[in-house]
Amino acid sequence: MSTEKHAASFAPPSIDASGRRDLIGLDRAELEALMLEVGEPKFRARQLWHWLYHRGERDFSQMLNLSKEFRVRLEQQFFVGRPGIAVNLASKDGTHKWLLNLRDNQQVETVHIPEEDRGTLCVSSQVGCTLTCKFCHTGTQRLVRNLDADEIVGQVMMARDHLGEWPSPKDGRLLSNIVMMGMGEPLYNFDAVAKALKIVMDGEGIAISKRRITLSTAGVVPMIERCGAELGVNLAVSLHAVNDELRDQIVPINKKYPLKELMKALENYPGLSNARRITFEYVMLKGVNDSAADARALVKLISKVPAKVNLIPFNPWPGAPFERSTPASIRDFSDIIFDAGYSSPVRTPRGEDIMAACGQLKSDSVKQRRSDRDKASAETNAGEAA
Ligand code: SAH
Repeated sequence: MSTEKHAASFAPPSIDASGRRDLIGLDRAELEALMLEVGEPKFRARQLWHWLYHRGERDFSQMLNLSKEFRVRLEQQFFVGRPGIAVNLASKDGTHKWLLNLRDNQQVETVHIPEEDRGTLCVSSQVGCTLTCKFCHTGTQRLVRNLDADEIVGQVMMARDHLGEWPSPKDGRLLSNIVMMGMGEPLYNFDAVAKALKIVMDGEGIAISKRRITLSTAGVVPMIERCGAELGVNLAVSLHAVNDELRDQIVPINKKYPLKELMKALENYPGLSNARRITFEYVMLKGVNDSAADARALVKLISKVPAKVNLIPFNPWPGAPFERSTPASIRDFSDIIFDAGYSSPVRTPRGEDIMAACGQLKSDSVKQRRSDRDKASAETNAGEAA
């Protein structure tokens, strides 16, 4: 593991001390309205959009197709924000993980996973989570708040900065795909996620196509239709169990939206075809959900939906009440799915040396901060007692 040492940076507030406003996170209509507000024609928004999201430029003085006078005014009234970076870790397998500082000192994680034919960024949608899935480390943290659109887009901008991938290249991108599989439940923060993804998909900016974006949900049934209709992104569903009895326990949102309702919503996901399938994520938990009977039940359960299955060996964390299934049982499980005609790749665990699994770095940092706080208060108490 290699840690890149640098001073921690913090995200500036959306309006900074000199009253300047962050431009990141505004959609096109908002940026146009803002240009009219400052006495500029509407098409300035398009020029700025190009600089912000295609070029990744943060310095107004470099935006050379804008008049000098306007550049000076921009500088006085606006800035181009980014999340701060608390921790920056590179795994020996090339996986990169950032713990980001937000403007209220909350923290979220973003992970970049390079592969031969693509580079995937795993993006967070909330600080913490409400879902309490039993195998998930983020599930042990309570929900603190939803992320705003600029904080979601900011994760992509920050990763692009780091990869040196500006202007947005057409081909051979290091950051070619996005998965909304970081901390939080994206369909519980749909408005901000939708706004952010529309910015990311815009063809004159970051321009990552909806075909290269996957949103992962634990199964917020009432939002599934809207996600497909409004965003048209690929959908992944954290299934993890093939009957309500077990799923109620390990993915508790199932009590609210049981399997029958979930499968019905998935059958109706807009734009579904054999070329565009739902991904079923299935975490392999030893002795819990990994039997041959489970695999056969899984095949039956998903039979009405164009589907692929993603088997994820459980990523252990300290104190987790589960173990990873054995390689042999994962292979047997995968064979049954494969023989039924589904692609069922087993996801190789990545970045294990940097705790890249969901929520791990954040928890570690919270523990650290708690112990710092406890130490500080012990010292204060000692001081007061003396
Ligand atoms: N809330 C969304 C997205 C975040 S979790 C969802 O539930 O889909 C992203 C994926 O990682 C989910 O499939 C989740 O079940 C899985 N996951 C979480 N913790 C894990 C662990 N310790 N090992 C393996 N997969 C895990």
